[in-house]
Amino acid sequence: MSKTATTAKAPSTQHAPRDGVTVAIGAASHLRTKSVDTWATPDMDAYAYEAVYDPSRISLADAEASVRALLAEFNVHVDRFLNEDGPLTAAQRGQEWMLRWGCTPWCITDHTDAVSPEWHATAPVETALRDIDSNGTRWDNAQIPWLAAKTVVINDKPQAYGRETRVWIDYGTTTGELSPAQAREALEALRGFTAQLEAVVEYAERSAADDFDGDPEIARLDREAENRRIAARIAARTAELDAKVDAALEVLRG
Ligand SMILES: [Zn+2]
Repeated sequence: MSKTATTAKAPSTQHAPRDGVTVAIGAASHLRTKSVDTWATPDMDAYAYEAVYDPSRISLADAEASVRALLAEFNVHVDRFLNEDGPLTAAQRGQEWMLRWGCTPWCITDHTDAVSPEWHATAPVETALRDIDSNGTRWDNAQIPWLAAKTVVINDKPQAYGRETRVWIDYGTTTGELSPAQAREALEALRGFTAQLEAVVEYAERSAADDFDGDPEIARLDREAENRRIAARIAARTAELDAKVDAALEVLRG
């Protein structure tokens, strides 16, 4: 959250009851005296409510409960919280969340989302470089990193099916779902490959010193000559077919 809250400023006067209020909440490390700070910002004829909390002192769940209780004193009933920090870890969401979903502390999946998967995943690490697929448009490539990896734990009904840790490595739009041992192999292969790639790039850089642009005028003349060649070939072929048709008609007419 970019906004810095120094003092709590819940509305000082009693307002008409407000339901369905959304509170923007975000983690902050600058809070000195308290673990949660809440304030209201005049927003046209209503108030927008915002809060920050210190994740080192309070879980998000407890911070939300605290904000909810504070605003209730002002007749404001919080409907939902809008998290402004990007994905939260299960540890930040609190113990209750972790028990309910069987979450690992580092899982960033929001399991309340209807389309969320049942497995648990870390936030991915990824190359800053976006995808380099020559078949992709620039826009397509900008959507995904060239390489990415995350740890995934699958532990649905663990008594029956056990618990399995995997490493998912994305290379462009393709994903490898590897065991940790296979991921270790992939890592070793990547280490070896960087040296080979270094040699290829160095060679290409030396080769590129001899690259040059063609002459646009000569290119234009070449395209025109090519077009004339194609036109001549089509004309010859058409004449050939015409002759065959004429001959066939001649035969039919007897
Ligand atoms: Zn999870």
